[in-house]
Amino acid sequence: MEDLKRLACEAIDRQASRLRDVSSEIWMNPELGFEEHRAHSLLTDLLGDAGFQVDKKFTLETAFRAKSGTTKRPNVAIMCEYDALPNIGHACGHNLIAEAGCAAGIGVKAALESSDQSLGCVTVFGTPAEEGGNGKVKMLSNGCFKDADIAMMAHPLNADYLNRYSLALLELDVTYKGKASHAAAFPWEGINALDAAVMAYTNMSMMRQQMKPTWRVHGIVTNGGIKPNIIPEESQLQYYIRAPTEGELKTLKCMSEKIFHSAAKATGCSVEIVEGEGCSNVLVNSVLADAYCKNCASLKFDFKPPVAGGSTDMGNISYAIPSIHPYFNVGTSASIHSQEFTAAANTDYAHERAISAGKAMAMTAIEILCVPELLPSIRTSFDTQVATAISS
Ligand SMILES: [Zn+2]
Ligand SMILES: [Zn+2]
Repeated sequence: MEDLKRLACEAIDRQASRLRDVSSEIWMNPELGFEEHRAHSLLTDLLGDAGFQVDKKFTLETAFRAKSGTTKRPNVAIMCEYDALPNIGHACGHNLIAEAGCAAGIGVKAALESSDQSLGCVTVFGTPAEEGGNGKVKMLSNGCFKDADIAMMAHPLNADYLNRYSLALLELDVTYKGKASHAAAFPWEGINALDAAVMAYTNMSMMRQQMKPTWRVHGIVTNGGIKPNIIPEESQLQYYIRAPTEGELKTLKCMSEKIFHSAAKATGCSVEIVEGEGCSNVLVNSVLADAYCKNCASLKFDFKPPVAGGSTDMGNISYAIPSIHPYFNVGTSASIHSQEFTAAANTDYAHERAISAGKAMAMTAIEILCVPELLPSIRTSFDTQVATAISS
């Protein structure tokens, strides 16, 4: 097994400069979710040249599947993301996720091909639109991952983490309807929908004092009226609410709905609350995470204790397939989704770290394929974790 790991790392090193070029080109040409046509073609060309059987546009226009030669189980799935953010480009560093993911796939494939035993296979998935588009949720419902036994990806950040408590997320779109009137001549004839939105915003902010430290609510006013001399007859708010478990998210949703309804009552408006898309919290499989951690030993990782993070569509995958979603430090103190992080996502150091994360994933995959008792133990831990999460 150690020989196979070494072969995987050597294969990754041989492809490192192409991997870096592709990642840099994705970084230089940021594309929004579901519009990642250039990234899709760069990555499918890369994996095709490496000998993968590639299904372009795999159930979604900018998704792909790249399978290694054999179809023998276990099948290790590696996720690539490559979408960017509006205005600030690759401020989440998804070009590096694609780099690490392709590196891992290339490494495992080379190791498997050098072995005379048929150990299993590796599949690299291109999963578009993580930033608000829920690409993985759509691919999950399209049945894309039904033959995958475990799923892995690695995300860049300003420190190394094995786990960051990615939160379950729900979008709530709130519309208040009142009555327009001249704001100076006949204000008493109007029903002010903006007042309802302001009350809702203020009361959501007041609720924070009673929230658990791991809960998050954050919203914007998307419609606050048309002109100051018209009492606003319609207003709209968009909120994201987040909590570490689906159960806690349900509690937070009830509390938020009370606030939205009470603002309507106080102002005489009507209110409509529409649930938008959401995603689940990430269930990090502890057995798989331990294996990944061990394989990071020679790669200069310095894992920090877990803290609350954002949310990701990888959460939904983690309820369907045993998963890990570790983070690697790209050498900046900046937060993701900032201009500074965009700059940090294309440095020599960032590429080096993406390659290290790819090697760690490849070696972890090889361990799963070579140690027969590892997958059942991952599976047992997964079943317990999902059962606990669903009943909480
Ligand atoms: Zn992001
Ligand atoms: Zn991200």
